[in-house]
Amino acid sequence: MSQQPIELRQALAEHQAVAQQAGAEGVMESRLGAALLYQDIFTAQQLQEAIAQARSQTISLLAALEGIITPDQLLEVQAIASGLPFVQLDANSIPQSTLRLLHPETARMHHALPIQTRQENDSTIVTIALANPASAPARSALQQYFAASDMQVEFVAAHPQRIEKVLKSRYEIDNEEGFEVVYEDEFSADELADATNAGPARQHYADIFQEAVARGASDVHLEVDPEKGMLVRFRIDGVMHIYDTVPEKYRRALIAIIKLDMDLDVSDERHLKSGRVTKRVNGREVDFRGANWVTTRGEEMVIRLLDREGVRLDIAAMGFSDYNLQRLVHGYSSSHGAIVICGPTGSGKSSTLYAVLSELVNPERSILTIEDPVEYRLPGIQQTQVITSLGRDFSDSLRNALRCDPDVIMVGEVRDEMTAEISMRAAISGHLLLTTVHAMEAALAPISLIRMGVPAYQVADALRLVVSQRLVRKLCPLCQVQQTPDINDLLALNYDQATAQQIVENAGSYNFFAASEDGCSGCTSGFNGRTAIAEVMLIGDLEKELLMGPDRSALNLRRLAIANGMIPLAHDGVNKAALGETSLSEIRRVVA
Ligand SMILES: [Zn+2]
Repeated sequence: MSQQPIELRQALAEHQAVAQQAGAEGVMESRLGAALLYQDIFTAQQLQEAIAQARSQTISLLAALEGIITPDQLLEVQAIASGLPFVQLDANSIPQSTLRLLHPETARMHHALPIQTRQENDSTIVTIALANPASAPARSALQQYFAASDMQVEFVAAHPQRIEKVLKSRYEIDNEEGFEVVYEDEFSADELADATNAGPARQHYADIFQEAVARGASDVHLEVDPEKGMLVRFRIDGVMHIYDTVPEKYRRALIAIIKLDMDLDVSDERHLKSGRVTKRVNGREVDFRGANWVTTRGEEMVIRLLDREGVRLDIAAMGFSDYNLQRLVHGYSSSHGAIVICGPTGSGKSSTLYAVLSELVNPERSILTIEDPVEYRLPGIQQTQVITSLGRDFSDSLRNALRCDPDVIMVGEVRDEMTAEISMRAAISGHLLLTTVHAMEAALAPISLIRMGVPAYQVADALRLVVSQRLVRKLCPLCQVQQTPDINDLLALNYDQATAQQIVENAGSYNFFAASEDGCSGCTSGFNGRTAIAEVMLIGDLEKELLMGPDRSALNLRRLAIANGMIPLAHDGVNKAALGETSLSEIRRVVA
């Protein structure tokens, strides 16, 4: 805050005196004038201009300002005039439990949002953000609404567009079927250390997971915080974010409720367990897969969320560049051979596998899968789930499957020699085989199959195509910031000095952007959603020869593949950054 020049204060005082005499919104004008003196919303010159206009045209200062400052600035001035603080609304910082205090219909009617609550002298005070702070009817209606449940309100002003956005994104899904709380009965004393905490803990359970689904989180981490209770973190687009803290007194009850829901033994707080449950959250079917473990601080849990309905299985929409997509399509447009997708856990390889499978669905083709577990149901495909505890493993299931002689067969993951060998033989004997291998780069996948014990000639014969992929976060187009590429990022991504230099010098012809540090109401830390980057290695005659010969190594195979047109993963990522889809530091985070 800075004080405006003295002449300006005088001009303003004169204007106020005149306005008050004329009775033209006198109170408002004087409050506005006083507030404006100490605000940094616009320049002294703009204010001077507005005062002059207000006086010459005998209009209010607010009306005069309308033509001079931007709509955003005007909104702030309106807020000041109505005596309310103006807040920059951050959608992600509003807890779902707070939003739910106000009925969506009422919220929409008054363009209002409850944004936080606090306790003061035994009463709850709700802070409401208003899009139109001057609306007296809205204020009194909301006061009455909350008085009915013994809550007091205080108002702040916020940007109408931001309020609308939250109303759309956060309330609409809430409107439909909410989070189903399964256990309506009270817990027995055996099940919970303190049964009186069950109600609030159950509410926390519902709030946390409803919110996790609404924000598209893939995992929820519940960690003991020795000072506060239970720290709740979400993994969104592959990156962890702190969501909330559950008070210590509900910590054990919360874990117990989740374990009960997943059919886990609640009384056992010492041993590692994993379980699952399918729930309808915000009107969609979501699989929860939880595992607990015990630290010296107490019992913790990680729950993976699998949104069965939120998956996009369109191969063209996964983010592959046109060049890579063309090579990929070429790979699976054959009646036989093995297609291998690799990458670390969470790199999106199953999504790619499912997307390719759904491309292959055709009434004239028989398609069979062997999976552990079946992640998505696809129409037109026979899907088999391997149940290891019943003594069936991948290789047994695969042998059975081959007796049905399918055209296309998908094996969830090749993990052992037996499965690897049967898979490669199937690919050689006229089946199109799709699978994943846990390997960090394309050239390592064939090598690791050979290391598992499959004869090199079989691997060479079977393989048609290997894809290595990662998921990178997409920049939020609403708040991304233009950026000149940092040469160190490029060098870290395996460019030689000269090429890196060239990219930096020609930065003007690309669209390099960085994520805005704080993000906006439309994103999480400047990112929104994810896209795939990949390297696609076609196994041609030269590659086959190399795999069978004495010079076989991942490095030699990689060099050969690049010479034959494979764009390395890191460079595919930089191409994406140059198009403004993601940032260089994001590529570096994921690849380097
Ligand atoms: Zn944003």
